[in-house]
Amino acid sequence: MTYIKQKMAKELMTNTVNNLDKFYIDGQWLENPNAEQLAVINPATEEVIGYAPSGDKQVVEQAVAAAKKAFPLWSQTSAAMRKALILRIADEMTNRQDELAQAVSQSMGCPTHVASWLHIEGAIYAMTLFAEQSEVTEKIERGDKCMIVQEAIGVCAFINPWNFPLHQFVGKVGAALAAGCTMVVKPSEQTPLQDYIMAEIFEKCGLPAGVFNLVPGTGLVVGDALSRHADVDMVSFTGSTQAGIKVAQAAAPTVKRVMQELGGKSPFIITEDADLAAAVQYGVEDVMLNSGQSCNTLARMLVPQAQYNEAVALAKSVAEQLVIGTGDDAFLGPMSSKTQQQRVLDYIQIGIDEGATLVCGGLEKPAALETGFYVQPTIFANVTNDMRIAQEEIFGPVLCIIPYQGLAQAIEIANDSPYGLSSAVFAENDESACAIARKIRAGQCFINGGEFNYNAPFGGYKQSGNGREFTGLGVDEFLETKAIITTA
Ligand code: NAD
Repeated sequence: MTYIKQKMAKELMTNTVNNLDKFYIDGQWLENPNAEQLAVINPATEEVIGYAPSGDKQVVEQAVAAAKKAFPLWSQTSAAMRKALILRIADEMTNRQDELAQAVSQSMGCPTHVASWLHIEGAIYAMTLFAEQSEVTEKIERGDKCMIVQEAIGVCAFINPWNFPLHQFVGKVGAALAAGCTMVVKPSEQTPLQDYIMAEIFEKCGLPAGVFNLVPGTGLVVGDALSRHADVDMVSFTGSTQAGIKVAQAAAPTVKRVMQELGGKSPFIITEDADLAAAVQYGVEDVMLNSGQSCNTLARMLVPQAQYNEAVALAKSVAEQLVIGTGDDAFLGPMSSKTQQQRVLDYIQIGIDEGATLVCGGLEKPAALETGFYVQPTIFANVTNDMRIAQEEIFGPVLCIIPYQGLAQAIEIANDSPYGLSSAVFAENDESACAIARKIRAGQCFINGGEFNYNAPFGGYKQSGNGREFTGLGVDEFLETKAIITTA
């Protein structure tokens, strides 16, 4: 991470978003009290496009205090009021859709035209869905001599990754607003831009001061301080399993609720009777979208031995047709950072060293793309599930194709992973695909070409996490249950 003195940064900021040099706390834009900053780098141009402040413990104290002060009033607002406000926010997001797409694209590399539907449209839709969930705090369940109600859990801390920065933001902030919680948000060091636009939107829509606070900074300073803060009632973390474990450890002494949305290495089972060409195209495009930087990417394609060679040839042909770059015809952009590019190249070398067959892509930069953190769409065949490239999360445009003999073995391979975030099945019909889906230990299963759906809860089994985001279940994570005991 690059840190520089504040003065050098001033001229760059006009290119990006307003107030990028400030924190947003208690409804105010506050100057950075220290000299440390985070460089925002466009991964397609490798240029610094702005600097965000890097918070310290003192800034975290201020932000948590503001959220704590705002909680009593905000948590008592009516569901109707929160619903109307969330809908206003979604409208304003629609008005600023292009800016949001630019912000995401410029900081994490997804081509802008892809970012506008993949990153922005869905996030706006998800925000509108949260409006309906506000009513949960007004429902009363009556039992024998008792009433059961749901109340906002309190002050929340949100720690986000860079790969879907607005989607993750909405999954946490939208749910927390619906539940009546107040919050401090720490974006990824690499991708703070869209959070600044969202702070402006909240201001314009009249969100009360202190309900939402924005403190960019590093995981080790701001993330850690939020996780261990005694006045934070819940921390919701999305990111790598390693960092998620550290957050849970830091949070443990204060017994706060910890929600973890972590990594994955998701399997995709193609059965003998499936439409092979359609299935392979679906699987390859899934892995290459967002340059493979999706936690739920279907990184392991499991194919019957009898159709293996045909599937590999089809996959190669699909991958080689994908356009890479930033233009309107580009399917995938650069990796989000130089570090991420190197990590993916290291894994490609590991795959070669482990004896997997490199079908396409590899270590070379894509032709005519000298600048930018690009990695070619890469496919490995003859992968066995015990290889590191099949067990570890690469988080890049790298597909492993694994042969299997019989459905029982396919399911065994699918479940032989420390992760359990997502999965997919292509079979002859939905009924047989569904029967296989029920045997895979993962939080989601896409059958016969199903697409990402904000009406479905998202979250992982095993080391992929312990919570659910989106839908009513995603709001439940932000609630406490109160039993009111009566005499009659
Ligand atoms: P990361 O773990 O490096 O960082 C995520 C966030 O955690 C960042 O804001 C970072 O500053 C912070 N952080 C790092 N160390 C911390 C610590 N010790 N204490 C507190 N905060 C800390 O992950 P990343 O590289 O930004 O994102 C990629 C990872 O996120 C992948 O593993 C991916 O699978 C995962 N992810 C999961 C989901 C999901 O919903 N399950 C969604 C998107 C991404």
